[in-house]
Amino acid sequence: METAELVFLPSLAVGHLVSTLKFITQFLDRDHRFSATILLMKPPFALTPTPGNSDPPPPTSTPRIRYIHLPCPPDPPPIQILHKSPENYFSLYVESYKSLVKNAVVDLVVPVAGLVLDVFCTSMIDVGDELGINSYIFLTSGAGFLGFMFHLEARDRLVGVEFDKSEADSTIPCFTHSVPMGALPQFAFNGDGGFSSMAKQARKLKESKGIIINTFAELHQPSVWSSLSEDGIPPIYTVGPVLDLKSENRPTPDEKQSREIKGWLDNQPPSSVVFLCFGSWGCFSQPQVMEIANGLESSGVRFLWSLRSPPPPHKQLEPPSDYADVDDVLPEGFRERVNGKGRVCGWVRQVDILAHRAIGGFVSHCGWNSILESIWHAVPLAAWPQYAEQQINAFELVRELGLAVEMKIDYHRDCGYLVSSDQIDRAVRCLIDGDDAEEMRKRMKEASEKSREALVHGGSSYTSFGNLIDNMVATFL
Ligand code: UDP
Repeated sequence: METAELVFLPSLAVGHLVSTLKFITQFLDRDHRFSATILLMKPPFALTPTPGNSDPPPPTSTPRIRYIHLPCPPDPPPIQILHKSPENYFSLYVESYKSLVKNAVVDLVVPVAGLVLDVFCTSMIDVGDELGINSYIFLTSGAGFLGFMFHLEARDRLVGVEFDKSEADSTIPCFTHSVPMGALPQFAFNGDGGFSSMAKQARKLKESKGIIINTFAELHQPSVWSSLSEDGIPPIYTVGPVLDLKSENRPTPDEKQSREIKGWLDNQPPSSVVFLCFGSWGCFSQPQVMEIANGLESSGVRFLWSLRSPPPPHKQLEPPSDYADVDDVLPEGFRERVNGKGRVCGWVRQVDILAHRAIGGFVSHCGWNSILESIWHAVPLAAWPQYAEQQINAFELVRELGLAVEMKIDYHRDCGYLVSSDQIDRAVRCLIDGDDAEEMRKRMKEASEKSREALVHGGSSYTSFGNLIDNMVATFL
């Protein structure tokens, strides 16, 4: 084989796009016979800070990558579907790109070794089939979530209806503990297209030539791997953790704020500070902000809190932004009272914060990138999922792996429920000096070491990556 092209179709969600871009550069660095074309769909609405929104595309130091910005799809789904189920809307939106993707691949006029598709883009497997090109999936979430997806697909086949919150805890083959209904993602209960579209994606996943997962084998329980080795499930390749440790594809934080935070952290005792940060879409209602502030204050634990403002009502589909003045939403006098012990900030470079020796715990929404970053830096978590698949990630971290304390694993954004200041107080104290804190820190340290070992020559992810390349080359020739 002289050279071969891989065509990537990432999803529009920033968390998916960033790890996909990183995976691509790692792939090309690892095997110089490959080059990559990245097809970028137009987001249906402003999804800033998605780097793919910008034109020209995000900078990359790796040659052999080209970007193709696809135009708007000819026949997008009606926006009303979005309000019933974002998952269904995104699936249909991607599907409406089929002819544009097909034309773009045909126009490449180079031999294409594979389509590498996001989990929301499985409909493009049909395009690959039409063109005689193998399709692979790059899954930006964990293997536990994949196991759950296949469970959901089986439910759709055997029972035919979505989950109901009043059902008893569920036995899901990939997990050793039974799963409370509340720990399932919101789409599992959505009879308006959420459940059925995710079941359809899971069915299509089985038609791929392989599923590449941003995780490492040692992280998950053996039950995950046995459930994923069942008949009908394609080969699994674990290549992670794929991390954007330099935050190359992220918004640039306020540099003055970053310097001040670093200076402050430098003066805190090791492993004493709890960091609160909730991903690119994380924000809270005013009453919830008050509960968090009161919980942090009464805990007496040192903290760094990345607090972001929800979009205004007429821009509900836009991501949060930094507050012009955080004092507007915090309890009166809060910042003066906690001065020296706690800080409130806006968007920060999360990976830099987690790397600091003063950080002893991370209150997180359990987005998969955040989990991997926390593991990499050996910081135990408190799990407070918000949206997407985060509840199932939180369940796995808390109940299956013992790497996180539970803030509230059955929390869903917009559920109308407030996590109380008492719950917050308890969880952050538990994280820093609870009975199990030392043990959890030890487990996290082991997981961190394993995550690093997985990537070096001979490690599980390094080897699996090699197997993926061998498979691609063998089936391409
Ligand atoms: N992030 C960051 N600063 C912030 C919030 C988030 O650098 O203030 C980064 C974080 O390091 C992670 C990503 O944004 O890489 C969030 O991805 P994740 O999968 O955890 O959650 P999502 O944003 O997709 O919900």
